[in-house]
Amino acid sequence: ESAESVISRLSATVSDYPKPGIVFRDLTPVFADGPALRTIVHALIDPFEGQFDAVAGIEARGFLLAAAGAYASGKGVVTVRKKGKLPRKVYSEDYTLEYGTATLELHADDLKPGMRVLILDDVLATGGTLGAACRLFERAGVQVSGFGVVLELTGLRGRAALAGHRIRSLVRE
Ligand code: 5GP
Repeated sequence: ESAESVISRLSATVSDYPKPGIVFRDLTPVFADGPALRTIVHALIDPFEGQFDAVAGIEARGFLLAAAGAYASGKGVVTVRKKGKLPRKVYSEDYTLEYGTATLELHADDLKPGMRVLILDDVLATGGTLGAACRLFERAGVQVSGFGVVLELTGLRGRAALAGHRIRSLVRE
């Protein structure tokens, strides 16, 4: 079964979450299914084979994909975390949310300059989150090989915000 097919069969849509008027796509049933998880992880990492030295995940759902993808490819996993969670020297990048701003952080020395990273998350919406993650790695001297997401919400134009980088999305809505 294709990645697109398992995602459409298993993902859920929740109205008015986390706020009235928002339609939230819930991918946890895809993660909870063994064959589906294996299918989506390989669909995300296989196109980038030979092009990355580590896999990064965005807290929290991106961690699941990144750990699985790193393990499957024999590479290490790197955590891009919300502000205040990492204990040592970090780079910080602010980004815009629908209301206000948020901050992502990366340990400054988790990867060495010149290494190449593949960045994974569950959903690409406006691209604010992945854009901030990209800036963190660039500040660390790490090359961003590309981005992989399970679902791309095309109406929010995140792809334009990440111009210049390769993006693999398994489903576009
Ligand atoms: P962006 O920064 O691209 O606007 O939003 C993407 C971030 O918000 C991702 O980290 C993603 O987990 C989360 N997100 C935004 N919309 C949704 C959604 O409908 N479902 C899920 N699961 N996550 C979402």
